[in-house]
Amino acid sequence: MNLDVNTLFLVTIYVEAILGLLLLFAWAQNMAIRAVAWWGFAHLIRAASIVLFGLYGSAPDYVSIDLANALLFTAFAVTWTGARVFDGRPVEPVYLITGAVLWLLVCRLPVLTDAAELRALIASAIITGYTWLTAWEFWRGRKEQLVSRWPAIFMLFAHGALFLLRTPLVAMLPFSTTSDKIFGSVWLNVLSFEALLFTISIAFILLAMAKERTELRHRTAAMVDPLTGIANRRAFLHEAAETAKRHIADPRPSAIMLFDLDHFKSINDRFGHAVGDRVLEVFTAAVTETIRPNDLIGRIGGEEFAAVLHDIKSVEAVAVAERIRETFAHVAQAVDGRPVNATVSIGVAHCDGDVLDIAELLSQADQALYAAKENGRNRVEVASLEVLLKRADAAMAPLAGAAPAQASAA
Ligand code: GH3
Ligand code: MG
Ligand code: MG
Repeated sequence: MNLDVNTLFLVTIYVEAILGLLLLFAWAQNMAIRAVAWWGFAHLIRAASIVLFGLYGSAPDYVSIDLANALLFTAFAVTWTGARVFDGRPVEPVYLITGAVLWLLVCRLPVLTDAAELRALIASAIITGYTWLTAWEFWRGRKEQLVSRWPAIFMLFAHGALFLLRTPLVAMLPFSTTSDKIFGSVWLNVLSFEALLFTISIAFILLAMAKERTELRHRTAAMVDPLTGIANRRAFLHEAAETAKRHIADPRPSAIMLFDLDHFKSINDRFGHAVGDRVLEVFTAAVTETIRPNDLIGRIGGEEFAAVLHDIKSVEAVAVAERIRETFAHVAQAVDGRPVNATVSIGVAHCDGDVLDIAELLSQADQALYAAKENGRNRVEVASLEVLLKRADAAMAPLAGAAPAQASAA
């Protein structure tokens, strides 16, 4: 198959322009992800550069080769800048134009004027440089779990590698179908075709990345408490239910803890709501630093938190709860320079059976928490038969008092 290079050029210009507009249109609909605009402009700049390449022969070489290449490098630099912006890194204006400036200087060097192959190698190296830098930026941001990040990294790396090999390939296998050494080369067809496929794929992959991030952020916003950054009530209960399902396949002793900050209303009243908010953040930090990374923590109410700790014996769970209580009492002595002296009461329920009944354990932990409050706050209580009976007695007391009255009324 021998594709007509002119047709390929026209198709590429058209495709680049359409993809550029598509990305800009996508950005206009969701301006939160600015990188999409950078990527849109990159495609438009590439379209312009290919128009200039297409003028080869009818326009002076400094337009159809020097300027065209300078624009092409800027397009790759803009894609790279988009990748930086995508992951919250600053724009580097100097490096953005380094490729183009370097190229224009190279073109002015008398030594290189006739060294077409060397110039081609330099051009390829600049493109590979920016393409690999783009892949590197995406790689650096891999902590954000976007599936589409990986094909982007792969495509960019492969495209960069192919560009770097372009000059040796053309030199090693310079087979031509016509006498024209440049435009007759089958390699030019193959490489132009690869560039076309690359540009289409990368535009859609970048678009997919932006969409995936938007969806991920929406999903996260619905599940994460904005103040503390931990699971909200809904997410906590969902995750706890998932944990209970996994527990059936692999039962291990687990513990549930309920936390309620002591006299929190008074903290708000004395120091203001902003300090109260900081105390909630300080508490979250104290818990997350103490529990293991795969344990579960959530904010289930205003100043109420819950945790599920996996693979933990009863005594260990109490020790962890004590550590959380002590750590918090220590770090919350002063918050934002104010003598807050916040403390927490903790109720612990333990399970070493085959079934992790979250609702039952939460209820037991709640009763233990109630006992902790009753017994003076800033303490840990474990749900035990004694606590449960005491709680039942307390609940029955008013009824017991009311019974004779009812009896006498009868
Ligand atoms: P106790 O020791 O019995 O738990 O007393 P308490 O004052 O902590 O109990 P209560 O449940 O009456 O008070 C909870 C307070 O938490 C009331 C509410 O104004 C405050 N609160 C709830 N959500 C937030 C929040 O997001 N930020 C701040 N600053 N305060 C909050
Ligand atoms: Mg409360
Ligand atoms: Mg409270």
